Amino acid sequence: MSIKPKTIIQASHLSKIYHTSDLETIALNDVSFEIKEGEFVAIMGPSGSGKSTLMHIIGALDKPTSGTYILDGENVENLTDDELSDIRNRKIGFIFQAFNLLPRTTTMKNVMLPMAYAGVPLEQRLITAEKFLRLVGLGDRLSHTSNQLSGGQQQRVAIARSLVMNPAILLADEPTGNIASAQADEIMAIFQKLNDDGHTIVMITHEPDIAEHAKRIIHIKDGRIVEDSTKHQQRKIVSSPLLKGDAAQPRGILNK
Ligand code: ADP
Ligand code: MG
Repeated sequence: MSIKPKTIIQASHLSKIYHTSDLETIALNDVSFEIKEGEFVAIMGPSGSGKSTLMHIIGALDKPTSGTYILDGENVENLTDDELSDIRNRKIGFIFQAFNLLPRTTTMKNVMLPMAYAGVPLEQRLITAEKFLRLVGLGDRLSHTSNQLSGGQQQRVAIARSLVMNPAILLADEPTGNIASAQADEIMAIFQKLNDDGHTIVMITHEPDIAEHAKRIIHIKDGRIVEDSTKHQQRKIVSSPLLKGDAAQPRGILNK
């Protein structure tokens, strides 16, 4: 007997039109797709193809001009700004190209922040932040501040931060864009480990090498999906010494 995986993202006929004084830009043009729990999807496309626009809609940072977007069972269309920000904090773990950590702030404090917004008690914030920092191999950097870390380490802090609210998806925008290639492999190894443990990952990238780490690649061009391919053969595997002996908790055990 097989259990059908849950649909986490359902995008139907999404379009996004930007209006500037003299110009109308169709950034997304009738885009439809679904992402199921447990997938690791790369969204690829050249500059200007609509990747960031799509990422903003997936992340509930912006709404489409037309079409329907359902995130983990919730239609975002009629939500207020407050409700949207609550959904973002609970359902999405964001990982940005520029890390977006608080400067001169310790890794522990950075990772605890989403839990502070959500009103998680201090003791649980401390335990959870330390657990996820250890998971990404930063157990020995708990009281370093962000400016004392390498780019790859900062991105690992951001990954730990993205996990603490047990989100329905991890949403990464060019996660290796600002780091050296050896460190990029570490980041991809962490993503593959998290995906093996059941996390659903959506990663935006323009780099074919990075997209190869995902199990499915959606190609967009001029605001449209031009190819959507799922790998049946082995994906590109990278392993990380950082992860040896660490066992991530599968989603569901954490706080459900
Ligand atoms: P990508 O991330 O793939 O480079 P974007 O989603 O940023 O692509 O942009 C898609 C298209 O929409 C581009 O032509 C871009 O110039 C345009 N665009 C993006 N954001 C805006 C905006 N806020 N106002 C007007 N045009 C925009
Ligand atoms: Mg972009």
